[in-house]
Amino acid sequence: MNPFEYQRVEKAEAAVGAISRSKRAKFLAGGTNLIDLMKIGVEQPEQLIDISRLPLAAIESLPGGGVRLGALARNTDTANHPLIRKNYPLLSQAILAGASPQLRNMATNGGNLLQRTRCYYFMDPAFVECNKRTPGSGCGALNGFNRVHAIFGASAQCIATHPSDMCVALAALDATIRVRGPKGERTIPIGEFHRLPGDAPQIDTNLQLNELVLSIDLPRSPFAHHSHYLKVRDRASYEFALVSVAAALDLDGGRIRGARVALGGVAHKPWRSEPAEKTLTGQTVSIGVFESAAAAAVRNAKAYSHNGFKIELAKRSIVRALAAAGELA
Ligand code: SF4
Repeated sequence: MNPFEYQRVEKAEAAVGAISRSKRAKFLAGGTNLIDLMKIGVEQPEQLIDISRLPLAAIESLPGGGVRLGALARNTDTANHPLIRKNYPLLSQAILAGASPQLRNMATNGGNLLQRTRCYYFMDPAFVECNKRTPGSGCGALNGFNRVHAIFGASAQCIATHPSDMCVALAALDATIRVRGPKGERTIPIGEFHRLPGDAPQIDTNLQLNELVLSIDLPRSPFAHHSHYLKVRDRASYEFALVSVAAALDLDGGRIRGARVALGGVAHKPWRSEPAEKTLTGQTVSIGVFESAAAAAVRNAKAYSHNGFKIELAKRSIVRALAAAGELA
């Protein structure tokens, strides 16, 4: 691990001020991803700004029926909070599908948003080629072993996937991220928070280097009674998704008034499938309709040497998740 300075701050303004003074500083909260990456030399910050004592851990109702999740609320506390279990069970399920209980007890909501990919080549500095770690060095996965890599939205520079389960549910639930920078606060819709790799895969999100995540805001949801998070992975627990699906239906009897389908493990960001949602909306709940939605969802998928199975897996997972959400399973 490289030597670094440590500074603890007690206020959001101080945190933003401190990070604005150094290009190589990082915020430290739960540390469950950052410290691991520092130990293996993937992250080498000159300074850690400890924000864990900022008053950002509350989970509270918003006027109008939504919920505000503090950036420093722990994943466990979020998943088990009565407001989340009752009104956003999809989010609760997704968080509980991720990591071990010990990690969830430490990991914060803000940190979960900012997790970095678990691409093998990114995680091992012995591999020289990784544009995300070292811009311009190439992509080891593109012509290497790419079984866990993207089938949507990749580029010739990077085919990595986003590792979070929580963010897949947030994408389906139309979350908004509230952040603070030197010029004040702004909000970023979840769909615009994470980036596709394009020509700059080293940049994971549209958060500026000197901005602090304050909260994740969820609007009132019509999906509390008909949603399901399905995670398919190589082993039953403590593993990242090969494919995951956040499925949510707003039902009027058997008619689908509205639908949300978001996928994890398939792209550089949580992948919301508008083709699937359009196919579902206005239809009557049936396995046939779910199969049509799944086919629409994967129409533009692109596989690499070792991950072709993910396209069929995504299709089947979408049908299973929708069937569970629509109580046909
Ligand atoms: Fe690096 Fe992305 Fe290629 Fe993985 S897929 S080796 S993270 S550039």
